[in-house]
Amino acid sequence: MLIAGKSLWLAETNCWVVAPDAGGLGVLIDAPPDPGGVIDLLAEHHVTPVALLLTHGHIDHTGGAGVVVGSEGIDAYVHPDDDYLTLDPLGQLRTLFGMVPPGDFSPPARRIALSDGQILRLAGFDLQVVHTPGHTPGHCCFLIRDEGILFSGDHLFAGSIGRTDLPGGDYDTLMDSMRDKVLPLDDQVLVYPGHGPTTTLARERRTNPFLQELI
Ligand SMILES: [Zn+2]
Repeated sequence: MLIAGKSLWLAETNCWVVAPDAGGLGVLIDAPPDPGGVIDLLAEHHVTPVALLLTHGHIDHTGGAGVVVGSEGIDAYVHPDDDYLTLDPLGQLRTLFGMVPPGDFSPPARRIALSDGQILRLAGFDLQVVHTPGHTPGHCCFLIRDEGILFSGDHLFAGSIGRTDLPGGDYDTLMDSMRDKVLPLDDQVLVYPGHGPTTTLARERRTNPFLQELI
């Protein structure tokens, strides 16, 4: 399995390319507002994307989505509970960064709705949608169960968790999602977050201060 990541503008957000092998079909996870960087990452690994999966609607994960799906001719998948974010890139830029930089941040015109537990068979492998509200109402993680890989977006980071002080965030909801949906996964699961380095569930269980109240 090829998993290649790149941290991109404007908040050092990780964009992930997942494919059975380099040189074939694959899936993109998140599209920061640097579509050129996303497309470069695909080219570096000679991967042809079949879908863009969005962990949630925040602008630093979705700002490049409209351009990327348009240029690659693919669909974007996002949970409808985050439509209030996905469809308001300029409002988010103003609220979070106090400005709208030059660029095309338009949302993907056509969005396929994710739902909890859904299995997406894309590019020859299965990804399970794990709806993990809390950071945002529509936040989803993506689990490749056969490989023990979890793309955790802004739900779980190495040593931390997603912030819940932004509109739509809720700490208790995030902790419920963590306890019910993430902590039951195996210790060996590799975690690929939306920001920062990769980790394992075993390491987070042992050392992440935010998880200790759940264990
Ligand atoms: Zn976020």
